[in-house]
Amino acid sequence: MTIDTQRVNLMGMTLAQLEQFFLEMGEKKYRAAQVVKWIHQRGVSDIDAMSDISKVLRDKIKLVATIMAPEVTYSNTSKDGTVKWIMTMPGGSSVETVYIPEEGRGTLCVSSQIGCALDCSFCSTGKQGFNRDLSAAEIIGQVWLAAKYFDKPDQKRERRITNVVMMGMGEPLLNFDNVIPAMNLMMEDNAYGISKRRVTLSTSGVVPQIDKMVGVTDVCLALSLHAPDDALRNQLVPLNKRYNIQMVMDACNRYMASLSDIRVVTVEYTLMNGINDAAHQAVALAELLKQLPCKINLIPFNPFPNSGYERPSNNRMHTFREILQKAGHNVTIRKTRGDDIDAACGQLVGRVADITRRSEKFIQAVELGNSAADIAKTRIKR
Ligand code: SAH
Ligand code: SF4
Repeated sequence: MTIDTQRVNLMGMTLAQLEQFFLEMGEKKYRAAQVVKWIHQRGVSDIDAMSDISKVLRDKIKLVATIMAPEVTYSNTSKDGTVKWIMTMPGGSSVETVYIPEEGRGTLCVSSQIGCALDCSFCSTGKQGFNRDLSAAEIIGQVWLAAKYFDKPDQKRERRITNVVMMGMGEPLLNFDNVIPAMNLMMEDNAYGISKRRVTLSTSGVVPQIDKMVGVTDVCLALSLHAPDDALRNQLVPLNKRYNIQMVMDACNRYMASLSDIRVVTVEYTLMNGINDAAHQAVALAELLKQLPCKINLIPFNPFPNSGYERPSNNRMHTFREILQKAGHNVTIRKTRGDDIDAACGQLVGRVADITRRSEKFIQAVELGNSAADIAKTRIKR
């Protein structure tokens, strides 16, 4: 794919940004809703196909703007119906997007970065390092392409995207300025119109960025916890050395309190055999989570080459769940989907050219407000 550096990409622009775009062109604001509908509801990327916009105005738009999505370079459907796409970005790196059909709903798992800088010990995305942030267009472009894929006569009607989770590659809160507009488009009535209760941002716990969400967005929040104490979480999620469990839970409570309706945090806990799945750890987790209104989603570890971890037996996972349930928690064990096509959580790797590894320096730089692109240029090594 070639990059058009001269013209703006309308794909990633929110309704408000497009309104501004048209006002600056000396045009009427309502053009923005028309264009958003063409792009996101009708899947159109050809400005000339926008038949309720005059030829004169279309030509004027084409001089300064384009509509570009990532390119699908691979797709595969699992025997359980899960679909995985590899989407290639300008520059040759690629990310993975996964669709998971379930009874009565269809969830799209979207990536926010190419790779991830945070290096969680059990995550294949983390193991491959960080390349760059995705733009808002590249994030919403994944939804656009998946929606288009299902909008074909041979696809069954139930193949609809009812939910979106930012649980693909990357840490969404370290790409805040692109993730938030893309999530706005997911919820925008003129675009995908998905309810705020069905759009979820998953984070490993970047505390200042959780606080930044307050008043800016009202999407659902998922927290990747994975351990009941700091000593273990420091090993599994290195970011915990900077923001410990208490700091992260306090930030989650502040965000939930900012919402106008009552919702709970989804706590994700990847179960790894002999690491974080013992009965005493379930007891400690049950106690810890008394202070965070939540539902707990236990994720059986998904293996990848040389991970060094194993999935626990079903017996161990059920015992773990029962202890939490007896303590009064709402707990589910996530069904593993799409593992025959390497589409399960933590198995997403894409193809990352020009890797920049994670480091403490990276996280510090983000806090100082440097863009991830600038930081990537410094090519921090392990
Ligand atoms: N960076 C964000 C979102 C992407 S990861 C986050 O960490 O929350 C999405 C989820 O998959 C997280 O809960 C993550 O901990 C989990 N995950 C990562 N690797 C996994 C693996 N190998 N098996 C099971 N779950 C995994
Ligand atoms: Fe990054 Fe999330 Fe993987 Fe950790 S689990 S390395 S934060 S993508």
